[in-house]
Amino acid sequence: MLEIKNLHARIAEDGTEIIRGLNLTVKAGEVAAIMGPNGSGKSTLSYILAGRDDYEVTEGDILYNGESILELDPSERAAKGIFLAFQYPVEIPGVATMQFLKVAMNEQRKARGEEELKTPDFIKLVKEAAASLQIDMDMLKRPLNVGFSGGEKKRAEILQMKLLAPQLCVLDETDSGLDIDALKIVSDGVNALRSPDRAVIVITHYQRLLEYIVPDSVHVLYKGQVIKSGSKELALDLEANGYSQIIEDAA
Ligand code: ADP
Ligand code: MG
Ligand code: MG
Repeated sequence: MLEIKNLHARIAEDGTEIIRGLNLTVKAGEVAAIMGPNGSGKSTLSYILAGRDDYEVTEGDILYNGESILELDPSERAAKGIFLAFQYPVEIPGVATMQFLKVAMNEQRKARGEEELKTPDFIKLVKEAAASLQIDMDMLKRPLNVGFSGGEKKRAEILQMKLLAPQLCVLDETDSGLDIDALKIVSDGVNALRSPDRAVIVITHYQRLLEYIVPDSVHVLYKGQVIKSGSKELALDLEANGYSQIIEDAA
């Protein structure tokens, strides 16, 4: 589903190269975990997948279902079923979360040539999804992410993901700032989305999240490259021994 080939990318503003020859393949049905020390380029990779224009791809390619997405803007990527949950979710003042969700869902339907959702149908879908994530409907009357706690932001991201039902989901540090109960709710939400025709990339610092979302593959990102890939045992090894041995071996 996703094939990243020899990707090089830099910060548009000052030309600093952050992604330096990254290779990664994720198949449909797979849950892939990306781990790596702080500053290794994990969030940058998620921004590049989203198509943010503050990064420039200088070499290599990103294929999604066999086609390059490099020329697509963020909304075109979203319409094709790519969903990103960022480490620092964007605040949208002045727009109630409910309204935001409705616009997002209808834009997706429009891109697919489907009819707009009728309000009662929309409300039913949101109520069901919110209940499963233990989100209070009052929270959805507030502007998206404005004044939300860390846990509320992450739940709101998973709610969007549930409602948009994307094909490729990328979750950047969805576990940071979550207490154990919220972590379980969010993990259950992600696990419910597992399906043979969907791929999930979970970016995380800690093994803890991977006890709840058990990955099919684990990839270590360091200085903008995947330096080691393995099965879920690799995450356990990292938790026990840290990154230093793997970094030494790669050097
Ligand atoms: P991670 O998510 O793995 O912790 P990041 O992708 O956030 O790493 O950052 C990788 C490196 O790139 C860091 O050294 C960071 O400071 C730098 N970086 C990323 N984006 C920018 C930017 N827009 N401006 C300046 N530095 C950046
Ligand atoms: Mg970081
Ligand atoms: Mg990060």
